[in-house]
Amino acid sequence: MPHRTETDSRKLLRRLRDAMSVASPGQERLDRITTIIAESMGVDVCSIYLFRDPDTLELCATEGLRPESVHITRLRLGEGLVGKVARLARPVNTANAPAEPGFRYMPETGEEVFTSFLGVPVQRLGERLGVLVVQAKEPRLYSDDEIYGLEVVAMVIAEMTELGVFVGDSTSFAATHKNPALLRGVTAQEGEAEGEVWLHEPRVVITNLVNDDSRAELARLEGAVAQLRVSIDELLATAGTRDKEHQEVLQTYRMFAHSRGWMKRMEEDIRLGLSAEAAVEKEQSTARARLERVPDAYLRDRLHDLDDLSNRLLRILTGQGRETGATMPDRPILVARNIGPGELLEYGRNLRGVVLEEGAVGSHATIVARALAIPLVINVPRITTEALTGDHILVDGTEGMVHLRPDDSVTSAFRDKTAMQAKAQERYAVLRDKPAQARCGTVIGLKMNAGLMADLPSLVSSGAEAVGLFRTELQFLTQDRMPRRTDLVANYARVLDAADGRPVHFRTLDIGSDKVMPYMNRPDEPNPAMGWRALRVGLDKPGVLRMQLQALIRAAKGRALSVMFPLVATGAEFTEARSMLMREIDREARLGHSLPERLEVGAMLETPSLAFAPKGFYEAVDFISIGGNDLKQFFFAADRENELVRRRYDTLNVSFLTFLQVVVDRCHETDTALSFCGEDAGRPVDALALAGIGIAALSMRPASIGPVKSLIRRANLNEVSELIARVQTRGLETARPALLDYVSTLVD
Ligand code: PEP
Ligand code: MG
Repeated sequence: MPHRTETDSRKLLRRLRDAMSVASPGQERLDRITTIIAESMGVDVCSIYLFRDPDTLELCATEGLRPESVHITRLRLGEGLVGKVARLARPVNTANAPAEPGFRYMPETGEEVFTSFLGVPVQRLGERLGVLVVQAKEPRLYSDDEIYGLEVVAMVIAEMTELGVFVGDSTSFAATHKNPALLRGVTAQEGEAEGEVWLHEPRVVITNLVNDDSRAELARLEGAVAQLRVSIDELLATAGTRDKEHQEVLQTYRMFAHSRGWMKRMEEDIRLGLSAEAAVEKEQSTARARLERVPDAYLRDRLHDLDDLSNRLLRILTGQGRETGATMPDRPILVARNIGPGELLEYGRNLRGVVLEEGAVGSHATIVARALAIPLVINVPRITTEALTGDHILVDGTEGMVHLRPDDSVTSAFRDKTAMQAKAQERYAVLRDKPAQARCGTVIGLKMNAGLMADLPSLVSSGAEAVGLFRTELQFLTQDRMPRRTDLVANYARVLDAADGRPVHFRTLDIGSDKVMPYMNRPDEPNPAMGWRALRVGLDKPGVLRMQLQALIRAAKGRALSVMFPLVATGAEFTEARSMLMREIDREARLGHSLPERLEVGAMLETPSLAFAPKGFYEAVDFISIGGNDLKQFFFAADRENELVRRRYDTLNVSFLTFLQVVVDRCHETDTALSFCGEDAGRPVDALALAGIGIAALSMRPASIGPVKSLIRRANLNEVSELIARVQTRGLETARPALLDYVSTLVD
């Protein structure tokens, strides 16, 4: 085989492009490609193997092997040299194939006369599509230039196949994008949804693969990279020095954008005949293939950064924004690698569900999805490469599973499940205006948790009697700059207007730990959940808390106001926070603003220490709300964000219930109102236990109010209380089995 030059490569690519532009059946095109490659490379054989399913490669076209073996010869992933190329996702080059370890002789192909072998993966953006092989009788090793040239050709093939050129028979790998897939992830917001995929960042479609003038194309690449560098510098300038993590990512982007190696590889691709965008994508595909094999999380993150950067560059080169002109489906399920809280809010309640390839249980996007009650599954591997806009998708947020392009039996089972839940919801709707009165006569106050304006309509539809917890930090987290006092006043006033006289317990800013505002300085903390967060920040740096308190007073405009402070760990912290509020009240009075007709000041009990605070604290506080999410994590020393431990300890563990009883008794003794507003309040059996030990108010997600009310109305809280006492005296670890037994005896 003669040494190939850049001109040969360019000619080959152009011939391929011309062959592709002729309308003919997929198989004919594939055959034509192999002939052109074999001819222009001067080799005896060129074959294309494509994935039939994730484990099987099939010979789909060949020039030089026996034509009868096409669609007959199959190899498993890793089997033979072809399978090895596919498994390793890198070239295999050998002068003497039969002597190579792992060689598998396929007699039906008649390949015994060919000695040299070069195979390169056909892949697109990390998706393995197949293998392109050339073989020759002559025993020779292929040069680096030849390998590189064949990779460029493989990239063009990958792109064309992806564009559906070969689609048309079921043997094509493209069928994999039509197959049903069950993908598992992690639950971030429970609930079920059926709909169609809406890709948040659709892939850039490359139509121009081969260049006619490499000099012009090099100039295009250079121009685009220059533009990319400027945009990163601008981002760096606006990010300022505040958010360290964001800064670090941008610095890495900048480093990549100035990387000579990256640039050189793309320039080489262009010289060999690719267009600028095809060159960017070729390097992106190689990086993605590497990404899958890198065990080191830090390096994987860096490769992700490079991936993001390539996408930016592709958008500059093709002029394609996020907007593709596609219309959003009626039942959109958002699919994305990751998404920011602001972007998620923009989509708002239009979305039926969200599936993320990355994400975290405590991320801001998760907080927003929870607030919007949109089922969310995170950490779903490969969802963005598997899913196409418009694909039918079922999201099982409760089980953390996603069915992509499900078959009919899966869909109907899923629909049965959701129909049953909808029926139950109908039953709950009947209870909406009825009290949560247990059979013993005790009435439990059911309130809802909220954090966004969008939550407020649920106050009426759920039948909640108040907003037991309004998480004010959501407004701060979903913006890219610190809100001003006037923004806060307007927001709180709208909340109070919408509540229409029902009480709203505003919790002051609870930031730190997992809730980080991009525009605020944040120290690097080894253990942020136990670090400088919530009220601690407010007391040490009172500026924002004071602004918030002023805004609350002004928004109340003479109406009743209820303020509660998060993560109060000692009585002294509460005293200090309360004095701060009183100073603001005085100040507002001096400024001539009207004061709330009634003011309630409460504390969230989220650390065990507060259960044992001096009696003076219990007397001073107007109410206490137990933040069970944080309290449980500190009680059991189990991080609420850590998948490995977060479900490990049961709320109905007797130690925890006994501890909660201490708080109930202390509140009882001092006549202090007590409520519980962690997630557990919304789980019917847990809620029953909490009511049973004497917690008379529960605040939860609006959707949980119906199920909790329904169970409480059927139960007798005296019986629940006795049952828990019996479990305690018997020295059992948990009250759950006994409670479940009890619940199963209750009539519907
Ligand atoms: C809690 O900790 O239980 C709570 C209600 O607050 P958050 O979940 O916002 O920390
Ligand atoms: Mg909390």
